[in-house]
Amino acid sequence: MPTQLPDGFTERDQQLWVEGVSLQALAQTHGTPLFVYSQAAIINALAAYQRGLYGRRHLICYAMKANSSLAILQTLVRAGCGLDIVSGGELERALRAGVEPSKVIFSGVGKTRTEMRRALDVGIGCFNVESVAELEVLGDVAQGMGLRAPVSLRVNPNVDAQTHPYISTGLKDNKFGIAHEDVVGAYQRAAAHPGLRVVGIDCHIGSQITQAAPYLDAMDRMLDLVQAIEACGIAIEHIDFGGGLGIDYHGDTPPSADALWQALLAKLDARGYGERTICIEPGRSLVGNAGVCLTEVLYLKPGEHKNFCIVDAAMNDLPRPALYQAYHQIVPVQTPKADTPALTWDVVGPVCESGDWLGRDRELAVRPGDCLAVMSAGAYCMSMASNYNTRGRAAEVLVAGERVQVIRERESAEDLMRSERPLS
Ligand SMILES: *Cc1c(COP(=O)(O)O)cnc(C)c1O
Repeated sequence: MPTQLPDGFTERDQQLWVEGVSLQALAQTHGTPLFVYSQAAIINALAAYQRGLYGRRHLICYAMKANSSLAILQTLVRAGCGLDIVSGGELERALRAGVEPSKVIFSGVGKTRTEMRRALDVGIGCFNVESVAELEVLGDVAQGMGLRAPVSLRVNPNVDAQTHPYISTGLKDNKFGIAHEDVVGAYQRAAAHPGLRVVGIDCHIGSQITQAAPYLDAMDRMLDLVQAIEACGIAIEHIDFGGGLGIDYHGDTPPSADALWQALLAKLDARGYGERTICIEPGRSLVGNAGVCLTEVLYLKPGEHKNFCIVDAAMNDLPRPALYQAYHQIVPVQTPKADTPALTWDVVGPVCESGDWLGRDRELAVRPGDCLAVMSAGAYCMSMASNYNTRGRAAEVLVAGERVQVIRERESAEDLMRSERPLS
């Protein structure tokens, strides 16, 4: 059993529980692989941000690409969240979840005209624009509809978030944001366009950030820009600091959301910007530790150099290890029987790729039929899941106390072929 369990998860009677339900029972009832979420853990993670920003004008927009299942969105929307979206598909999900369109922020480097039109039609709160080319297109689309699009420019503060290169986004040489030195000029073009209305500025420097320093640096760089933009007579109503706060996967020690915001607000106040509306776009830190993926051990395959523990979840369900060599704790949901020897295993899935592993060199006492929990699987797992090898995506359940709700049925082979048109 792990020494430190995330919020919502406990150990009782030699078993792992999520709130008032045993994980073993969930696996038995609903089958595996199965994603299980604690609703209280999600609400508590949001509450830390709400405490941190208490008394300030603010909007927390959950970055829904982290986990876009409708019931997860509803949980956060009903608790007061807005949503940060990155596609037209996410916009439709957001609306289905009942979000107020004015609390939707549209991020991303490649919005299409169709996506822009739909977002303007429903009246979203802000477009975060990432290039001058996109700015012109958005302005023209809005003007053509007789509207002015609310815009914020995503600036690239050129700070190193000290995270994995694939999830670092605030450095000069990556595709995100407008380079620091081009920002004022871009704002002048936005302010001059009859189809645009400047409302804010934003940045997002990376993901799984475990230190406060990069945020504090980014804030300084952002406030320098706000000062320069406003000196040109363009008002900035809101400042959006993006998301990116990390979670504990394996002994990581990110600051808590409220502690981080205490430090950031102190800096904002010191520089005289404490009265501005603050927007944030947290994703992982709201849902990552609130979910686990349950998987059954199918076969054990000991070898000369490596022992393989083959489970029924795979890279199509949990793509993070294959994509970023990410670490997820993997633990038995029941204390193993005393006569089960502990060995070092590579935990792998059935997909036909050597990259299909979930954990390497894990010390586990396991037998076929045992159920394992892949921890911290609430973010960037189900939302990144694929149907590779024609594997249906897993089912999902949301637990609140002793109440269990199936929020997504397991996909069947029929589901997977539904939109195809075979030759006659
Ligand atoms: C992905 C993303 C986020 C959320 O990042 P997390 O690391 O999950 O908090 C926020 N804003 C933008 C623009 C993003 O692309």
